[in-house]
Amino acid sequence: MVSTDPADLEDHGFSVNDYHPGAMHSVVVFPGSTEDVVQIVKVARKFKMPIIPYSGGTSLEGHTRGHETGGICVDLSRMDRILQINEADSDLICQPGVRWADINSTLKEKGIPLFLPLDPAPGATIGGMISTGCSGTNAVRYGTAKAEWFLNVTVVLPSGEVIKTRRRARKSSTGFDTTKLFIGAEGTLGIVSEATIRLAPLLPTTVAVVQFPTVRHATEAVREVMNKGVGIQCVELCDDVFMQATNKFGMSLRKWPEKDSLFFKFQGHSQESLQETARVVKSVVEKHGGTGFELARNEQEAEDLWADRKNAHYSGIALLEGSKGWPTDVCVPVSKLPELVYETKKDLAESGILSTIVGHVGDGNFHALLLFRTDEELEAARHAVHRMVKRAIALDGTCTGEHGVGIGKKEYLVEELGDGTVELMKTIKRTLDPLNLFNPGKLYPDEPRPKGRNQ
Ligand SMILES: Cc1cc2nc3c(=O)[nH]c(=O)nc-3n(C[C@H](O)[C@H](O)[C@H](O)COP(=O)(O)OP(=O)(O)OC[C@H]3O[C@@H](n4cnc5c(N)ncnc54)[C@H](O)[C@@H]3O)c2cc1C
Repeated sequence: MVSTDPADLEDHGFSVNDYHPGAMHSVVVFPGSTEDVVQIVKVARKFKMPIIPYSGGTSLEGHTRGHETGGICVDLSRMDRILQINEADSDLICQPGVRWADINSTLKEKGIPLFLPLDPAPGATIGGMISTGCSGTNAVRYGTAKAEWFLNVTVVLPSGEVIKTRRRARKSSTGFDTTKLFIGAEGTLGIVSEATIRLAPLLPTTVAVVQFPTVRHATEAVREVMNKGVGIQCVELCDDVFMQATNKFGMSLRKWPEKDSLFFKFQGHSQESLQETARVVKSVVEKHGGTGFELARNEQEAEDLWADRKNAHYSGIALLEGSKGWPTDVCVPVSKLPELVYETKKDLAESGILSTIVGHVGDGNFHALLLFRTDEELEAARHAVHRMVKRAIALDGTCTGEHGVGIGKKEYLVEELGDGTVELMKTIKRTLDPLNLFNPGKLYPDEPRPKGRNQ
């Protein structure tokens, strides 16, 4: 299937989730198989056209933006089949356009007590999740896409050759890990056309929420809770402004105290072990000034409490009527998180920018949603994000914990990783894609302009 419908070109070239510069694609193609992808790559090579892979379209840093010279957007959403579920081995094989949420609901419908714990936006798909190195609220227990959730990927390389990075064995020490080469590559090294995914046992969970006087109290409580070794699947920090936004959004079944809060998801083999975890966590958080500890009384209540955290993006935008939101994420060593949040909130207040803050606090990863209504406010938000990133890197952190680089964060790579590491990345890119056709202008920092040229 091929489309040059302006609505398709616009939808695929621009995103309502980010405000980075870019252009429309020339054409959007919808392959149905690995062989189709190979044919598309051959055409792109023949006409030297940029090729931009696209799956769920939920990425946040301009990852799927069109190139200034035009190009072929390869939308993999038609390749959305689960090909094989191997319950005995806790893995499955699927095409790249399948959503993680659909994998988990399929497993549930079939009564298979396994799940994929990577949980970015519900619309995100396996190809995009591999390519952004994503994670989400479960990362504190299960790690990120860079842990071994992806055992093997089939990739169409820029040469048109098709490779498989591994077989299905749970572990392998045959050389270095070529699967990892494509995790976080943002579509710049090849197109993933199939993946073998490891699954985790699905255990009972429940949810608890507690409020704190400050972010520092909350993070200190989390540090102690994590060292207790009890069953914590998620621990999310939601700041006072977030709780205010949730109240205003009106989807919550309760009115929350507008204070810095922690949302916990506990995991255990039985109701008894969940209750035991709740008892340990309650005593630790209260020691650190936590108040109002509320434990869900049943599954429905747990879902309702968690929905308030999951609605972060939409409740955040509802805080300021008529506003849009610039979402961003950075990550620092956990002990530095209170300093980063404190300095960032001070900076945002001084700049007159309203923003909610949500953190995967167990990992030191924090997200801000900066609200704006005018072009002037958009520019102020852009500059505030820049300062936030600089602050995170200065605290030995990273410009992005999970959203990836795209267009928005590429200027920070040298400062964060150093010239040598960035040059190694570029060498790999040049080797695999000497014509620079695969998602050009993303991930790698731009080359410095030649000296003496005024352009
Ligand atoms: C409301 C909301 C909440 C979010 N929460 C989280 C979160 O908690 N954690 C998190 O990590 N992210 C989060 N995100 C960001 C986003 O969901 C992730 O980056 C996700 O992994 C993107 O997947 P996608 O299928 O939408 O990819 P796309 O946006 O389609 O593409 C992302 C990148 O992958 C490349 N790509 C896509 N498919 C392929 C393929 N088959 N082969 C090679 N390259 C490919 C694209 O070229 C692009 O560079 C959130 C986004 C939103 C809007």
